[in-house]
Amino acid sequence: MRYYQVADDVFCIRGTDVNMVLARDGEALTLIDAGWLKDAGVIEQSIRALGHRPEDIVAVLLSHAHLDHIGALRHLHERYGTPAYTATAEVGHARGEYHEQATPLDVIRRAWKPRTLAWAVRIAAAGGLRENSAPHIQPFPESGALDVPGGPVPISCAGHTSGHSAFHLPGAGLVATGDALVTAHPTSNIAGPQLLPDFFNHSTRDAIDGLAAFDSVEADLVVPGHGPVWKEGIRRAAEIARERAVGS
Ligand SMILES: [Zn+2]
Repeated sequence: MRYYQVADDVFCIRGTDVNMVLARDGEALTLIDAGWLKDAGVIEQSIRALGHRPEDIVAVLLSHAHLDHIGALRHLHERYGTPAYTATAEVGHARGEYHEQATPLDVIRRAWKPRTLAWAVRIAAAGGLRENSAPHIQPFPESGALDVPGGPVPISCAGHTSGHSAFHLPGAGLVATGDALVTAHPTSNIAGPQLLPDFFNHSTRDAIDGLAAFDSVEADLVVPGHGPVWKEGIRRAAEIARERAVGS
């Protein structure tokens, strides 16, 4: 199975080296992030295995417009009419009006090791070398919980991209951090809470400052954009990521 349950009515779907979060309220679903282009099939299969239909997704929430998160947005919209939302500051990026993305070649040049090459081969197969955007995406409201399954509260934490958001699901005691904080990545040598390597970040300085957005959030569970679920609280995760980033 490419998905597992992380809390009541919340599931993590594993794409190609990237996580997505599915929140359920009765029939209706919210999908947070959408993997690579070719992870669309994994999303559809996971939703069907849970007894739902892809049409049950009432909203896709996008943490940021990198190719490993925006992947299936356009497919879901064209096939099922699924709406997608992101922060106002990320809309232009998601619509493809500009780019803030390291290419796989950049990554290999700067982080050469066999593991990195194996990852690049996997992401190329997942559609990672193709342009992708979501011209239909709309901004979500600037503050408060969104009226979709899981009641996610967007948390603005720019740095990895200029309009990056995480999503707090208060009922589940969970934060989906996107790439504001991850717990592993095929191009990283360490495990546990951390920022992505510099070449993935629009501004690592801002990404470190952006971790402060988690200091007032109450949640035991962290589902990052990459790496395993962290169960020791979002504040502790942010603290470790900050210490490592500042110390490196
Ligand atoms: Zn990213």
